[in-house]
Amino acid sequence: MATTGNKTCPICGNARLDRFRPFCSKRCADLDLARWLGGTYSLPAEEPPDDFGAEGEFYVPEPDNDR
Ligand SMILES: [Zn+2]
Repeated sequence: MATTGNKTCPICGNARLDRFRPFCSKRCADLDLARWLGGTYSLPAEEPPDDFGAEGEFYVPEPDNDR
């Protein structure tokens, strides 16, 4: 494994960090991911974690402690 050369961020060309490699920052990683996914730089909308309460399986605690 050669460790020489190509130690720059492919997005902006700055020196990259190990924690974000091959990028220099999370921003560049996100940019690359967004470009990779959608072909554009538009930021992906955050998806909701679940269909919370969309169906009838929403847990409702029974108030049986206060009769
Ligand atoms: Zn960068």
